[in-house]
Amino acid sequence: MKKDCIFCRINSGEIPSATIFENDEFRVMLDRFPATNGHILIIPKEHVEDIYELDPLVAARMFEFATRFASILKKTFGNEGLNILQNNGKVAGQTVFHYHLHLIPRYENDSVRIGWEANSQMTSEELEEFVDKIKSNM
Ligand code: AMP
Ligand code: ZN
Repeated sequence: MKKDCIFCRINSGEIPSATIFENDEFRVMLDRFPATNGHILIIPKEHVEDIYELDPLVAARMFEFATRFASILKKTFGNEGLNILQNNGKVAGQTVFHYHLHLIPRYENDSVRIGWEANSQMTSEELEEFVDKIKSNM
């Protein structure tokens, strides 16, 4: 529990939340400032700042819930699509520094913009070089 962390304060019950589900490990709640109807967050109860601090096995269990809630949201809201998003670091858009997964139902003509434009096209040599570089750190 981190005192100045809003999600830890939610987990401790100090701040109210619209919780849909919780167990010992996770909370699933509505985002208070949603991108679309049905935007939910899955958060671990333990304070970890970002993916670099998250146990991969906890992440695996978390994704099981993401999969289950994707279907539950679709059944509830009838959304045509869904984005699962997870931001790490300010530069990547993280604003709450307690790890969380976003499930954002998408609707025809909603005004949400998630995406990027390609900055370049890599050559086969560059691709190979990056494969080698990354492999050297595995
Ligand atoms: P991120 O920008 O990925 O760190 O996402 C943080 C998310 O937390 C945003 O979508 C906010 O709308 C959401 N948020 C902030 N405060 C609360 C709160 N008190 N209850 C629920 N969601 C919140
Ligand atoms: Zn926290």
